[in-house]
Amino acid sequence: MELKFYNIVNDELRESSENHRGIDPRTEEELWPCPIASDKDFEDAVAAAQKAFKTWSKSTVAERQAALVKLGDVLKEHAEELASILMRESGKSKLMSDIDVQTSITHCIWYSQNPLEDNVQYEDDTTKIIATHEPLGVVGAICPWNFPLILSSVKIVSALITGNCVIVKPSPFTPYAVMKWVELSRGIFPPGVFQVLNGGADVGAKLCTHPGIAKITFTGTIATGKKVLAACAGTLKRVTLELAGNDACIVCPDADLDVAVPSVASGAFFNAGQVCVASKRIYVHESIYDEFLSRLVAEVEKSYTIQADGHAFSLFGPVSNKLQYGIVKRIIDDCKAKGYEIVTGGQTAQVTADGKGFWLPPTIVKNPPEECELVQEEQFGPVLPVLEWSDEDDVVARANLANAGLGASVYSRDLANAERIARRLEAGGIWINQSERPHHAAYFGGMKDSGFGGEMGKQGLLSYVYTKCLYFKK
Ligand code: NAD
Repeated sequence: MELKFYNIVNDELRESSENHRGIDPRTEEELWPCPIASDKDFEDAVAAAQKAFKTWSKSTVAERQAALVKLGDVLKEHAEELASILMRESGKSKLMSDIDVQTSITHCIWYSQNPLEDNVQYEDDTTKIIATHEPLGVVGAICPWNFPLILSSVKIVSALITGNCVIVKPSPFTPYAVMKWVELSRGIFPPGVFQVLNGGADVGAKLCTHPGIAKITFTGTIATGKKVLAACAGTLKRVTLELAGNDACIVCPDADLDVAVPSVASGAFFNAGQVCVASKRIYVHESIYDEFLSRLVAEVEKSYTIQADGHAFSLFGPVSNKLQYGIVKRIIDDCKAKGYEIVTGGQTAQVTADGKGFWLPPTIVKNPPEECELVQEEQFGPVLPVLEWSDEDDVVARANLANAGLGASVYSRDLANAERIARRLEAGGIWINQSERPHHAAYFGGMKDSGFGGEMGKQGLLSYVYTKCLYFKK
């Protein structure tokens, strides 16, 4: 079915003389034309947002809450349409696409119910100090392709509930569902409050340098994050960077394998490993290594199969675009060339019957060298190293990388033991006896190269405001 997509500027539907087309990663079929924002679209959007900010920033919290509820209603009413678009642009199954839509609905509802409030910072007999919060201005939200709606919606609702205007720039690989959501939401906010511009690095870079943008919230790779931070310095923008992770998962000798095996499989192969907090390096105690590995392989071969039919109940899928497919394919081929032991998967050619689609099978590599690329760098795809450990200090040292610190997980029946290890791990979130899944109410941000600041939860909202203190003399 042919669908139309538009840049949304000041509530107008804007076509463009320049269009690109996404690719369905399951089939490699070309998708619908998608208009690329022109310089005029860009300048008009920033001007409309700045104009709208004058009144929107003065709206009451109750007005913003009501608007967020309506934003969630749009997702609810168009859930099937949006999920079917997500399936085509990202390669997700129906189940995974539904998760993308439903989690975005949760964002709208939760943030509508949990706005920032003034708070008393200090009080004695003579003085009272109250902190209040003011929006920053126009927020540029630059988004990745792995969860197009979830990772945009958290930025959108955080910006809007705090009284900012927002211009969303989706990934050029997956622009469609986000653009449709903004289009369907016209009329909920005053024109200029909620806009979308489609484009690639150039549109992102313009958001970073334009003096009319007050803040950039960015999710993506470390390399691009560094460029974003440097580009924002000239105009002293507020910047939040949510970047790559290389999460270690530590399986202790007393782990309940009935829990740990399916959970680790899901942590590593959910969405074919294309999750910022996927379990990307598994460290298993030597006393249970062989049993764990054989059970993990069985679980993965049973539950993470290639199903070209996207309507299947599948948590697995193709790599979402050709660029990333090339990266992951090269890593698997490199493991094979170096003679590492591949215990399941490993095919990189003719994976499907017709050879179409960016499919790679879930691949597990047994005990590759600690210093190899697969262990030291984020793979962001369905290939997983499973390593062995014997000494706690040693495994903690191996888990704590210098170049990443997003998430981690620990499996142990002894919760005190798991917590003790978790507190030694250098990452923004540690999940105990469960795989890494961010929660809308909890602050989320990476240590070291995995991020700069963070978002989500009430603490995350603070990155979308100025905090202003009122000092009362009693
Ligand atoms: P990417 O860095 O290639 O692109 C992200 C966005 O930045 C895209 O919209 C892109 O068009 C834009 N962009 C590219 N160059 C730019 C520039 N010079 N200036 C401004 N914008 C620019 O990342 P990706 O491949 O889309 O995303 C995958 C990565 O994102 C993985 O590394 C993953 O771990 C990470 N990720 C992190 C989180 C998190 O919350 N920490 C969540 C999801 C994904």
